Amino acid sequence: MQRIVVLAGGIGGARFLRGLKSAVPDAEITVIGNTGDDIHLFGLKVCPDLDTVMYTLGGGIHEEQGWGRADETFAVKEELAAYGVGPEWFGLGDRDFATHIVRTQMLGAGYPLSAVTEALCQRWNPGVRLLPMTDDRVETHVLVDTDEGRKAVHFQEYWVRLRASVDAHAVIPVGAEQSKPAPGVLEAIAAADVVLFPPSNPVVSVGTILAVPGMREAIADAGVPVVGLSPIVGDAPVRGMADKVLAAVGVETSAAAVAQHYGSGMLDGWLVDTVDAAAVGPVEAAGIRCRAVPLMMTDLDATARMAREALDLAEEVRA
Ligand code: GDP
Ligand code: CA
Repeated sequence: MQRIVVLAGGIGGARFLRGLKSAVPDAEITVIGNTGDDIHLFGLKVCPDLDTVMYTLGGGIHEEQGWGRADETFAVKEELAAYGVGPEWFGLGDRDFATHIVRTQMLGAGYPLSAVTEALCQRWNPGVRLLPMTDDRVETHVLVDTDEGRKAVHFQEYWVRLRASVDAHAVIPVGAEQSKPAPGVLEAIAAADVVLFPPSNPVVSVGTILAVPGMREAIADAGVPVVGLSPIVGDAPVRGMADKVLAAVGVETSAAAVAQHYGSGMLDGWLVDTVDAAAVGPVEAAGIRCRAVPLMMTDLDATARMAREALDLAEEVRA
């Protein structure tokens, strides 16, 4: 049986995982989820990326939106607003609220986030082992210029409230340096046959996971192929605003630049979309095996083909 470890953010990671499961139904898949996007709202702990993976693989996701629950209503949010209690810019629906209430209750009772995530997954049966990157608190902050001068704001405030419309000067995973990988993370990497980076945000999703001390070393020490799929197609993010956070860390928005940002010390293989075929040469020159294949996750079959291409490339670099 094949053991696959995937470092995942939210929407891009979750959709890729659905294709991966379909491509290799018998594989044992461990997902190391980004928790740098986590935020406390209304006294509740919200983990957007873990929940996006859990809802997507468990059949509860709002398909068109890509996050949150299907058939959602917003009565609680409206009632909170009637009390003047915000923030109103973060969409939490009634069904979604239940997840955050259960999570917060369990955390309050002393369970670590990894145990809470496992408990939540007992309902959703995502068909993968979903682990938070760490049980410790890590919160991504973004350094932006506002009317009050330069200041750090929570990632969600930058991304959701400001829609990444102000210039970002730095992206800081606050708390990452002191964090430890969650139980099971290093063991899963050590036991893996292959490590995949899905088309997730290279800075605030995969980059944050790699910022947990020990993560990079564990992946390098595992001595297995590490293959990534570009979230950048035709020099733009397929969806979202990854170009803004790439600029903040001084990386050009192109499939080749993202591969070079990860570097040949981390990546063995990289898939770019067919429209970026010209990137294959430069990426290979940087010491990373590269192929150009269709990378649009338009439906399950197309996504499963992407997953197979990634696993084929892994076998190629292994040989
Ligand atoms: P987030 O946490 O919800 O932002 O999700 P991720 O970090 O997992 O993924 C976001 C990235 O996925 C964005 O940079 C998108 O460009 C990328 N993405 C979304 N859909 C597709 C797709 O169909 N193909 C590719 N190649 N990338 C995609
Ligand atoms: Ca995210």
